[in-house]
Amino acid sequence: MDFSQSPKAKGLSEQLAAFMQEHVIPYEAQWHEEMSQLDNPWQVLPGIRALKEKARDAGLWNLFLPDEQLGQGLSNLDYAPMAECMGRSFIAPEIFNCNAPDTGNMEVLYHYGSAAQKDRWLRPLLAAEIRSAFCMTEPDVASSDATNMQATAIVEGDEVVLNGRKWWSTGVGHPDCQVVIFMGLTDPEADRHRRHSMVLVPLDTPGVKVERMLKTMGQLDAPYGHGEVSFTQVRLPLDAIIAGPGRGFEIAQGRLGPGRIHHCMRLIGLAEHALSLACQRAVSRQAFSKRLSDLGGNGERIAQARIAIEQARLLVLKAAWALDQHGVRQSMSEIAQIKVAVPSMALNVIDMAMQLHGGAGLSDDFPLAMAWTGARALRLADGPDEVHRALIARLELKPYLQANET
Ligand SMILES: Cc1cc2nc3c(=O)[nH]c(=O)nc-3n(C[C@H](O)[C@H](O)[C@H](O)COP(=O)(O)OP(=O)(O)OC[C@H]3O[C@@H](n4cnc5c(N)ncnc54)[C@H](O)[C@@H]3O)c2cc1C
Repeated sequence: MDFSQSPKAKGLSEQLAAFMQEHVIPYEAQWHEEMSQLDNPWQVLPGIRALKEKARDAGLWNLFLPDEQLGQGLSNLDYAPMAECMGRSFIAPEIFNCNAPDTGNMEVLYHYGSAAQKDRWLRPLLAAEIRSAFCMTEPDVASSDATNMQATAIVEGDEVVLNGRKWWSTGVGHPDCQVVIFMGLTDPEADRHRRHSMVLVPLDTPGVKVERMLKTMGQLDAPYGHGEVSFTQVRLPLDAIIAGPGRGFEIAQGRLGPGRIHHCMRLIGLAEHALSLACQRAVSRQAFSKRLSDLGGNGERIAQARIAIEQARLLVLKAAWALDQHGVRQSMSEIAQIKVAVPSMALNVIDMAMQLHGGAGLSDDFPLAMAWTGARALRLADGPDEVHRALIARLELKPYLQANET
């Protein structure tokens, strides 16, 4: 296994790190301050728009997309350290047009969209002229099972008609959000994995209503946010369905492979940042006539955090390598492993850093409380830990079960 980046990726990584230091990190605290003053937080601050322009001009744009023309032609292994670099900051992924959920939605369009769908939606998403959301999870059914979705996408002549209610639709609060990908039940009689369709729905279609914006542990996560969205007799032409009726489950599976690498590498960046803050605090503050780093088991905890981050990074790089070498289907266990291991690792590291900061760790003066909430959400978003563990166990037991049957 070779985890080294290509020369092109190495160059871009260095450029990205310099851009982060020079432009993004100095602006971040100001951004939080400006956002906290707004009566209406559902807007993109001019500072973000300016940095996006700068990043695009510097060629640090759409780094996640493996296409040479539309992105930078990077592999998952190439891109992983860049996602880590961006993950250190809450505002960075958007600045480089590498933020969820738009990246996942762009990948869906790239891999499964028709030429017309790409022209209408992928092109403006890649240019960051518009934003998007992914509407799969429903309040009324256990949505960790993607085959459970009850909202409907019924084909009627040359139209598809949508009805149902979704929630946790990340990004639907963004002022530039113009399209959502809706997953709905098309044929309840079909095989479990062929029942659902994915439909591209312009947000201003009659019958689509954002009912409310949910808070994640007290935070709105503006300007992207997480919405509850109702769909009532929403009529669209049949060509709004991605890759045709019945392909929804397959697309949902395909969408999540690279996305999980991105999420996990960003979390590693966040954990590194938390560890760095913990170390700065531990050597600069004293209690009982000693530095915090010399008190109790604090040094031990810092060491454990370093070990945990290194282990997690290697696991994610292995998953990225496996995905590049063998594709999603052959890397399902590795991808599920990181999705379980990394959010929990990040939570532990961030929690340790919060504790070392005392009361300050839970305040908004440090980014730790927000970081903890982001990591906690990822034990659920893109599927809860238990579902990934169940998959890992199934794959692990499969050969033994087969051997046992013969
Ligand atoms: C911040 C945030 C952002 C999100 N963004 C999006 C988005 O953009 N689009 C979208 O569609 N969804 C999004 N989600 C929703 C997320 O994907 C779902 O919450 C998740 O898939 C779980 O579905 P559920 O909430 O219906 O939980 P349920 O399916 O009701 O599961 C509840 C619990 O049951 C247990 N459980 C479930 N299955 C098993 C199993 N096999 N074995 C053991 N225990 C099990 C687990 O403890 C699980 O947490 C987001 C969620 C959050 C918190």
